[in-house]
Amino acid sequence: MLSEDDMPKQWYNVVADMVNKPLPPLHPKTKKPVTLEDMTPIFARELVRQEMTTERWIDIPDEVRNLYRIYRPTPLVRASGLEKALDTPAKIYFKNESVSPVGSHKLNSAIPQAYFNKIEGVKHITTETGAGQWGSAMSIACKHFGLDLKVYMVRVSYEQKPYRKSVMQTYGAQVFASPSDTTEIGRIMRQQFPGTAGSLGMAISEAVEEALKDDDTRYTLGSVLNHVMLHQTIIGLEAEKQLEMTGDYPDVIIACFGGGSNFGGITLPFLRHKLTGGKDIRLIAAEPASCPKLTRGEFRYDFGDTEGYTPLLPMYTLGHDFEPASIHAGGLRYHGAGSIVSQLLKDGYVEARDVLQTDTFKAGILFAQSEGIIPAPESTHAIAVAIQEALKAKEEGKEKVILFNLSGHGLIDMMAYDKYLSGNLENYEVPQSTIAKSIEKIEGLQPEK
Ligand SMILES: *Cc1c(COP(=O)(O)O)cnc(C)c1O
Repeated sequence: MLSEDDMPKQWYNVVADMVNKPLPPLHPKTKKPVTLEDMTPIFARELVRQEMTTERWIDIPDEVRNLYRIYRPTPLVRASGLEKALDTPAKIYFKNESVSPVGSHKLNSAIPQAYFNKIEGVKHITTETGAGQWGSAMSIACKHFGLDLKVYMVRVSYEQKPYRKSVMQTYGAQVFASPSDTTEIGRIMRQQFPGTAGSLGMAISEAVEEALKDDDTRYTLGSVLNHVMLHQTIIGLEAEKQLEMTGDYPDVIIACFGGGSNFGGITLPFLRHKLTGGKDIRLIAAEPASCPKLTRGEFRYDFGDTEGYTPLLPMYTLGHDFEPASIHAGGLRYHGAGSIVSQLLKDGYVEARDVLQTDTFKAGILFAQSEGIIPAPESTHAIAVAIQEALKAKEEGKEKVILFNLSGHGLIDMMAYDKYLSGNLENYEVPQSTIAKSIEKIEGLQPEK
């Protein structure tokens, strides 16, 4: 067992070891790389510094480690039940991030983001949330540091997952269904798209607008950005030590993919062995077939939000006004991928695979019945791909070590399981013409060659 004292004291920044560094974010007007000063009206200064740094190791402040201790180190579990159910020669391990008080990995970045805002004198925080996981994490993290929080929650999730809203309110946050009528952009979007289900991109626009309007307010983002990946590397750094104790080393690591934070979190510390030590290891990102930015998107500069308030980010994207279907893995309904992972995918260090919604729930139920944990709809994507890999090992008669990240539990998502069990869950596949149309709209944003 990894003791508290073995909990990592630094986060790992893969940018230091990347051969091709991620391209810089650009100012949408000038198309020049954004500066620290451009970003500090939106984000805490230290978070912007972390966003841009090429230092390899970043110290985790003691105040952050003290709160990590509530639930870290998280368990690394050998999924013997699942192995048996699949009758596979593969060894399957998972890192159980569902044990955090909010039920997902999101707290790993919420705590440091609240902390750095606090010590810089920020009073109010805004953020968006899809499924409600990030909003819940930010709600308790802000409460720990005495900050108040406004959360813009994607409308479809607000309606599908009322208990998440209650969780956030219990921790003391204010929650709005997005698009809302409390921001200018929210009102415009409600007029333009009456009855819209909302999207992460829209909710981000609303939360950023609030931060820009007030000097004591900053915005926080739960995925996509480099500093979020950085905080999440605590997952992989712990897993690295825990696996060492078992004597196994992973052949393949799998995580589900929304903007890339839990995927980056578990894989990047292991990628360092490949980049600096020549280890052979496969990293697979599992995404929904209904929002396939990695498998069917294009590598372009695009906005992080719908309205175009953010800098232009280099990413695999479906276009910032792509409206994903209302699948139950709300945390995976995002149009783009973080720039670190996008560059790594482009350079062939990372693979991606898409999964149909019904296949993810089938995998989730097998996992629940064999391991006893009901996984979050997002996490079931990773499980589905882990199962594919384990079955392939069986076919090939190979022993293989598989590690996947269990990004969260699904106990507040039982409505989605109900739907699956009653045969009412649909699959959504995106026509190529839809993707082509939203990509075409961003061609004009590209910097001159
Ligand atoms: C938010 C979330 C995700 C997706 O976000 P990433 O930044 O890609 O990790 C996955 N699983 C759970 C449980 C989440 O809450």
